[in-house]
Amino acid sequence: MSDSVVFIVFLFGITWGSFLNVCIYRLPRGENIVFPSSHCPQCNKVILWRDNIPLLGWFWLRGRCRHCQASISPIYPLVELLAGLLAVQVVLRYGLLWENLVLILLGYAFIVLTFIDFRHYILPDVITLPGMVLGVVLAWGGWLVPPLAGLQDALVGVIAGGGGLWAFAWAFEKITGKVGMGFGDVKLLGMIGAWLGWQSLPFTLFFSALVGSFVGIAWMMWAGRDRCQPIPFGPYLAGAAWAYLFVGKVVYAWYFGRG
Ligand SMILES: [Zn+2]
Repeated sequence: MSDSVVFIVFLFGITWGSFLNVCIYRLPRGENIVFPSSHCPQCNKVILWRDNIPLLGWFWLRGRCRHCQASISPIYPLVELLAGLLAVQVVLRYGLLWENLVLILLGYAFIVLTFIDFRHYILPDVITLPGMVLGVVLAWGGWLVPPLAGLQDALVGVIAGGGGLWAFAWAFEKITGKVGMGFGDVKLLGMIGAWLGWQSLPFTLFFSALVGSFVGIAWMMWAGRDRCQPIPFGPYLAGAAWAYLFVGKVVYAWYFGRG
C-alpha cells in the first residue's frame, strides 16, 4: 500500500477523531452530539474552523482557547491521534476494503467508551445497548467479515458475554456484599461478544483482568490512589478486545499448542 494512501486513511481517522472528542465530552452530559457546533466550555465562544483542525488546531493554539485562554486538555489531540492510528492499523492489517469500515467503527466506539469511563466511571447505555444490537444485526446481514463474528458466534457471544459476566457480577455482589463490577461492563462485554464472537471472551476477560489489576496496584502504590475509589474496567475490556482482533488467534494457537 502506498504511503499516500496510508496518509489519506490517517487524515480520515483524525477527522473522525474530532467527532469522537465531541461524543466523549457531550454523551456523559446528555447533550446533543450534532448541535450546536463546538464551543469553548469556559467562555462558550464558538471555536473557529481553523482552530478546530484535528491535531494541528491544538498545537496551533498551544493548548489554550483563543478567546479566554482557558487551557484545552491534551486529551483532545490524543484522541484524534489514536483515531488516526487505529484507522491506519486496520487498513494495514486487513486491507483497504469497505467492509473494514465497521471494524473502524467498533474501534471508535471503544475509544469513546474508554475515555468516558476513565473520566466519569460510566459506560453509557446509549453506546453499549445499540452496540450489542448492531453487532448481531450486522452479523445477521453478513456485514461482519473476519476477524469479526458470523451470526452464530455473535449470538452465542452476546449471551455468553452479557449473561456470563452478569452472573459473575451478581454472585460477587451476593458473596462479598460489595459492588465489584458495574453493569456497564456487563453490557460492554455483551457488545464485545456480539461483534467478535464468543471465542473472544476468554482472551478479553483474562487480559483485561491481568492488565487492569496490574495498573490498579501500580496506581495505588505510586499515586496513592484510594482503595475504595472505583476502578474503571471498561478501558481494559475494550483494549483487550481490540488486541484480540490482532493477536487473538496467535495467542490461542500458542496456548492450546503447548501441551
Ligand atoms: Zn474560551
